Amino acid sequence: MSQSITKSSTDVTAAASERRPSAALEFGQAWDYAPAPEAPDHVRIDPRYGLFIGGRWVTPRSGRWFQTISPSTEQVLSEVADASAQDVDDAVRAAREAYDKYWSKMKGSERAKYIFRIARALQEKARELAIVESMDGGKPIKESRDVDIPLAAAHFFYHAGWADKLDYAFHGRRWRPLGVAGQIIPWNFPLLMAAWKIAPALACGNTVVLKPAETTPLTALLLAKIIEEAELPPGVVNIVTGAGETGAALANHPDVDKVAFTGSTDVGKKIQRALAGTTKRLTLELGGKAANIVFEDAPLDQAVEGIVAGIYFNQGHVCCAGSRLLVEESAHDLLVRKLKDRMMTLRLGDPLDKNTDVGAINSKMQLGKIRELVEAGEKEGAERFSAPTKIPEKGFWFPPTFFTGASQSCRIAREEIFGPVLTIMTFRTPDEAIEKANNTMYGLSAGVWTDKGAKIFHMATKLKAGVIWGNTYNKFDPSSPFGGFKESGFGREGGRQGLSAYVEVE
Ligand code: NAP
Ligand code: MG
Repeated sequence: MSQSITKSSTDVTAAASERRPSAALEFGQAWDYAPAPEAPDHVRIDPRYGLFIGGRWVTPRSGRWFQTISPSTEQVLSEVADASAQDVDDAVRAAREAYDKYWSKMKGSERAKYIFRIARALQEKARELAIVESMDGGKPIKESRDVDIPLAAAHFFYHAGWADKLDYAFHGRRWRPLGVAGQIIPWNFPLLMAAWKIAPALACGNTVVLKPAETTPLTALLLAKIIEEAELPPGVVNIVTGAGETGAALANHPDVDKVAFTGSTDVGKKIQRALAGTTKRLTLELGGKAANIVFEDAPLDQAVEGIVAGIYFNQGHVCCAGSRLLVEESAHDLLVRKLKDRMMTLRLGDPLDKNTDVGAINSKMQLGKIRELVEAGEKEGAERFSAPTKIPEKGFWFPPTFFTGASQSCRIAREEIFGPVLTIMTFRTPDEAIEKANNTMYGLSAGVWTDKGAKIFHMATKLKAGVIWGNTYNKFDPSSPFGGFKESGFGREGGRQGLSAYVEVE
């Protein structure tokens, strides 16, 4: 890297506990890279976005608009339509018409061409999309550039490949599309979640109405522009922005055949209750409280990187974040020391800076939730360590933090914090690790770190989690199904299994 080295001004955040001097720690305090911001000048964000319905940009019938801001600067980025139930109705009608007229009748090889076009356009506009993702949601450009956008394109490529091969996807059984899919997504991976939802639906011949999250609507709207440029038949994909009521109107619309929801367990349960007794198909991708399990024989330095990637990069705004660290008692002190040293080198700040590791918290509301749970951890007697880091004056931020000495009954060990906060606990035997890891209402993901492959396989068979990483963490691929057990939801996204959510198999 060509950055010059400058002296940094770090100060200590509230409640940072005692610091143990070490070489890495002193380095982290004394030196930092010069700023290397990604230039946003080529990025065009319109001052206002309407709803994308029936292939056209329309003014919301509600007459209401809301602002989307950058959580790192609190600057207003754009104004976005707030879709009412009537607007949602228009979108569902457009999707139904497109389903009946074009999409359900089109040959798979033709559908594939459109989906490939979207994938290629995402690659061509990758830089712009990454910048907008980081501006609107606060995540570091390293993440949006290297993870979110390439994976979103990969999902469209992957599913374009399936569109004309579906006769081979379900063991030779006949299949048909479901109809209109109503899809609701959260704010933590805005474009990637849109891709996870839209690509398989289109590949299987369904049409779509998608509602992005209130705080991060911009990349879904840029995706709508890409879909417009790819000349998909009008109404095949409709994007309606709005808040929770817009999502509820979509899920409850009588002409929606399938609801796909990714978000919190509370809202997921509400939707499940509302859909009970209807013929609608439902998939739910909900919260998590993953255990990252580190054995004494693990490569500890590698494990530290996995722990950091699993909870601090992306501010812990990840459903499968490794938010509980279970470490074998004999390795606890060494691992905690190594983790502290690594945390001293994490750079928090401008999401557009290519050197930033930890960006902004997505919203003021989310920051409030994180603070509340961290306070609860302190009150319940766990010991807190927060990396000493300079917090920018504007925006919403929380320093990388961990707790030691927490018991399994503490709120920080049970509830999803959805922030850069790790709860560290210990175990003595593999059985104890399994029992503690499974002692949660969630079951989305887990990680196992050990030198012994057999131990990884043994643990994987006992852990009740949909995704289990061995000696790595947070790795995704469109061909690999993702989804949870227990209150993390049901249904899978990605892979051949993910296609089943969008077809009726005879
Ligand atoms: P959320 O509050 O449940 O919101 C998710 C989406 O649902 C948003 O678009 C939201 O709109 C909308 N919504 C809110 N109330 C609704 C209602 N009554 N009916 C229909 N839709 C409604 O979740 P979030 O805070 O955005 O996202 C964080 C959660 O998502 C975490 O729990 C995380 O674990 C989970 N998540 C899970 C996965 C997975 O694959 N399992 C992936 C990513 C995230 P507004 O934005 O306007 O509130
Ligand atoms: Mg925003």
